[in-house]
Amino acid sequence: MIDLRSDTLTKPTPGMRAAMADAEVGDDVYAEDPSVLALEERVADLLGHEAGLFCVSGSLANLLGVRLLVEPGQEVLCDARAHIARAELGAHGAVSGVTMRTWTSARGVADVAAIEELLEPAAGPYLVSTAAVALENTHNFGGGTIQPHDHLRAVHDLCRGAGVGLHLDGARLWNAHVATGVGLVDYGRLFDTVSVCFSKGLGAPVGSMLVASRERITTARVLRKRLGAGWRQAGVLAAAAAYAIDHHIDRLADDHAAARAFAYAVADRAPSAIDPATVETNIVVLDTGDHPAADIAARARDADVAVSALGARMIRAVTHLDVTVEEARAAGIVVGTLLSRTT
Ligand SMILES: *Cc1c(COP(=O)(O)O)cnc(C)c1O
Repeated sequence: MIDLRSDTLTKPTPGMRAAMADAEVGDDVYAEDPSVLALEERVADLLGHEAGLFCVSGSLANLLGVRLLVEPGQEVLCDARAHIARAELGAHGAVSGVTMRTWTSARGVADVAAIEELLEPAAGPYLVSTAAVALENTHNFGGGTIQPHDHLRAVHDLCRGAGVGLHLDGARLWNAHVATGVGLVDYGRLFDTVSVCFSKGLGAPVGSMLVASRERITTARVLRKRLGAGWRQAGVLAAAAAYAIDHHIDRLADDHAAARAFAYAVADRAPSAIDPATVETNIVVLDTGDHPAADIAARARDADVAVSALGARMIRAVTHLDVTVEEARAAGIVVGTLLSRTT
């Protein structure tokens, strides 16, 4: 089986498992786990922030990051296909009392003019006031899209000017960094709060980091514990994340090459499904046209290729540590052949 459903599917490598087994640990609810503390400081530094909070998932890091900027009854603006809007099961509303308004975009690229139009920082007694904007880089459901740096700077300036916060869902910021060469710090500094995942392309089994100012992270630590998400000897997981930072960042370029190989193999057989030139990182989103996506995904599975049907006509394939370029190309041939059939 060539499994391209997600880059979360990777299993820890022997080297990563050895690092986990050797980790020094303590009780992280008491802030006494040396491996967690070291990771929090390291990732905060990498992203140009004062402090970090190690979290069980990217969803939790986003929930806390947005909540630090938005009070209950206020809103966060985001893309209609943002992970925070579509894939966190309404947590920002259900848990934080935060509402959302959204803009639509081509492939997830932040639409600066649309954001400017939606922004209502002081909406008065009738309308909901905007407290923050959230961006996603890379953009998952947009197809692994990298946000152009001038767009990021423009949204930063807009938010600063309006006095509203700016959150980055950087689950795959590592991929954007490797693909563009833009420094992690140069991304991180544009935002008030940033989440990054270790459990996607970096290949760790569990874990995400929220970074922000020291004061905000102190608040986030309280909110995390209130949700029951304080953890104890989490250093075994922090060690996996540290190992991933040491060994698995540069190799993301291989995942990007594999995604292109997959996309070109599909496009050779079904040109209307994807323009392979648009593939920037490790995610490929296909338009299945007349074919129901679920049907194509089921048939691919019969041919030992797993992809996700994420919409009626949308298939997503994600490359990762456990898939080679050759395997990705072979998978693209299978999916492209299915899409090229007229029935
Ligand atoms: C995976 C992902 C997350 C976090 O997902 P978890 O499964 O909660 O770790 C957040 N944002 C984006 C864009 C993602 O792809």
